[in-house]
Amino acid sequence: MNGDILLMLSCLCGSNKNYTECCGIYINDQVKPETPEKLMRSRYTAYTQANIDYIFRTMKAPALNHFNAESAKQWAETVQWLGLEIIRSTIDKTKGYVEFIAHFSVHGKNDTIHEISEFHQLNEQWYYVDGKHEQAKPYVKVKIGRNDPFDFDIDRNN
Ligand SMILES: [Zn+2]
Repeated sequence: MNGDILLMLSCLCGSNKNYTECCGIYINDQVKPETPEKLMRSRYTAYTQANIDYIFRTMKAPALNHFNAESAKQWAETVQWLGLEIIRSTIDKTKGYVEFIAHFSVHGKNDTIHEISEFHQLNEQWYYVDGKHEQAKPYVKVKIGRNDPFDFDIDRNN
């Protein structure tokens, strides 16, 4: 998809805002994402564009240690992105977590990534630093109360 078409579309992160007023300002490096959730959304949108440069420059170790730009690009180009659901996001000073489900289709087969991503703020900029995959299933609200801190032992036996 070329840039001109993108400008007219609602942002693919599902915010219902125009791309140029949502993830576009981050991806075009006009502003740094102010929150982990905004960074998460913009990284999803960058994946829909197979914009691996943006993915690369918004991550740090340990996530960066096992990141392969070439295979990430190849994968992003193979996948058809269907939507992003933000389940919850939290910030505690310079640390933040975003739980999300990304929907996509690969070779005609629908799939999801359910992940709790960890973000750190360094020099007033948020970075993706780690991600824990959850089983691809609907979020079970009973297990994590709305106001409870994340418990990473939950459902971690898959
Ligand atoms: Zn967006």
